[in-house]
Amino acid sequence: MTTSPDSIAAGFDTLGLAEPLLKALADVGYEIPSPIQAACIPVLLAGHDLLGEAQTGTGKTAAFALPMLQKIDLKRAVPQALILTPTRELAIQVAEALQKYAHHMPGFHVLPIYGGQSMVVQLRALSRGTHVIVGTPGRVMDHLERKSLVLNNLSMLVLDEADEMLRMGFIDDVKWILEHTPAERQTALFSATMPDVIRRVAHKHLREPREVKIRSATSTVVTTSQSYCQTHTGQKLEALTRILEVEDDFDAAIIFVRTKTATVELADKLEARGYSVAALNGDLTQGLREQVIERLKAGTIDIVVATDVAARGLDVARVSHVINYDVPYDTEAYVHRIGRTGRAGRTGRAILFLAPREMYMLKLIERATKQKITALTMPTPGEVANRRVAQFTQQIVDIIKNEKLDFFFDVVRRIEGEQDIAAREIAAALAWLSTRERPLQMPGANDHAPRDTASIPNAVSPAPSFSRDKERKPDAKARTKSDESYPAAEPRRERPAKDGRSDTPVKQRSFAEGTLARYRIEIGRNQGVLPKEIVGAIANEAGIAGKDIGQINLFDDYTSVELPANLPADLMDILRRIRVRQFALKTRIMEPGEFVDTRPPRRATPAREGKKPDWKKPDGKKPEWKKRER
Ligand code: AMP
Repeated sequence: MTTSPDSIAAGFDTLGLAEPLLKALADVGYEIPSPIQAACIPVLLAGHDLLGEAQTGTGKTAAFALPMLQKIDLKRAVPQALILTPTRELAIQVAEALQKYAHHMPGFHVLPIYGGQSMVVQLRALSRGTHVIVGTPGRVMDHLERKSLVLNNLSMLVLDEADEMLRMGFIDDVKWILEHTPAERQTALFSATMPDVIRRVAHKHLREPREVKIRSATSTVVTTSQSYCQTHTGQKLEALTRILEVEDDFDAAIIFVRTKTATVELADKLEARGYSVAALNGDLTQGLREQVIERLKAGTIDIVVATDVAARGLDVARVSHVINYDVPYDTEAYVHRIGRTGRAGRTGRAILFLAPREMYMLKLIERATKQKITALTMPTPGEVANRRVAQFTQQIVDIIKNEKLDFFFDVVRRIEGEQDIAAREIAAALAWLSTRERPLQMPGANDHAPRDTASIPNAVSPAPSFSRDKERKPDAKARTKSDESYPAAEPRRERPAKDGRSDTPVKQRSFAEGTLARYRIEIGRNQGVLPKEIVGAIANEAGIAGKDIGQINLFDDYTSVELPANLPADLMDILRRIRVRQFALKTRIMEPGEFVDTRPPRRATPAREGKKPDWKKPDGKKPEWKKRER
């Protein structure tokens, strides 16, 4: 049996899974079944035995766990299913996955049992009753011999990573267990490879198994240059941002992840690091999806974090990079993904992140794309700093070439003369000043750390210069008392046009002069938000001009914003979803009487009266300006 991406486009709801499982899948953000899931779930639900050839990373755990959970009788806390795994790590991982998928099955219990864990703990847990056991063969045998584990009620047995169990010398234990479980059970055997020994076990212990094998892609010659970077999960984000900084010819990227949840999480993290980025997943309406793609085309965003389904057919010529942040299920999905770059006759670049246990994918992809995938070494902080300095240098060269600087020559000359400071020192101070928000050096740039991934400091690196020149979010603590109630600030500027591209922000809406209404948004002082961030987000994402945004009042956990009354439903939808500082605004109109300003009355904001504040200390004197010590 083989699968192709088109045959898997249907959602989980077409596979016959029960509502609590579909709900849990929605919670974890899975959009569509992986090929192995689409193939196995109906077979297992129908009660057949199954022989599956699948590697880690293909989604095989859910492929057997979901039908298993569907068949569990929650009322009977006796082992009804057993999963044998080669290692304790895998046993724990599988047990955790089951727990996750059984989130809406109250009272469900799964117990991992493996060598190395205290027998006393396991005996106690077993005596309390459980529905599913996940264990390593040796320890499961121990318990069966002691009769602390009784499998009379077992109706399903899964052998996970059977070839690994063979390689680790467990195959006799596995056969022994198979012989000591009820013969009428349903059995599924998963293995990355199918050596003869495994086939013989399957032949002897499985009843007319259906075979599921995921086709390992039609081979396609690709022109995209491909690299991979081996990294552990915890370091992936840092690796990604560093690589993005040093990549040549970066214009725009699509970053692929597996789940809807991951699109939002990664987009938020990249945004916090200064990138202009949006998430693209199946939860977006067609209208919003098109809006994201338009913004990518126009250059108002540079990065889209997407799932496979949401990015299907996406054709944007400026996408210079495809990043496989999460490894695809199979080589076909990989080929589809990297087809999003190298369009309109341009060269494309594909980068693949692989955890050590996913390295087997490399050979498969090389075979499928008929091309070598080169190793990418993690850029060191020093390399990132060099790149930033090169970009900074170019900016200076461009300014000297293109701008009129006479006035500034005079300023520098005056500082030289009056302060007796050399021009080089002035230039260094100015370089410091102009890069203060985005330092040229990463933390640790001076310590010549080895290039291994273990040495990556968990630093938040600011975005490189290709990202939108957006204002950095100022430190929340730096807010002053006078920030309490605000007239709307000017929206932040969009990135200036690059390479002759037109810069098309979200289409601006026009509103007839009229009444403003008060809306509530779910972010406030405690989240460190500033009024100008709110205005910027509303102006840029919803296309409401600064002039149509009235007074903004910050409260601890929410903010009230004056906007035109009777906003259309599509705009309200956008306003609800906009995120500021990673918080969805969840905008809604305030009820009459809901807005009660309990704070003490203040003076009118000086800026609104069009005059400068006359700040005085309590003693009536003006504050003195203190010279900064050098
Ligand atoms: P496995 O091959 O079972 O180890 O799964 C590999 C990874 O894929 C795990 O992190 C799963 O959470 C994830 N995964 C499995 N099925 C899906 C799916 N249908 N959509 C998104 N992610 C999935």
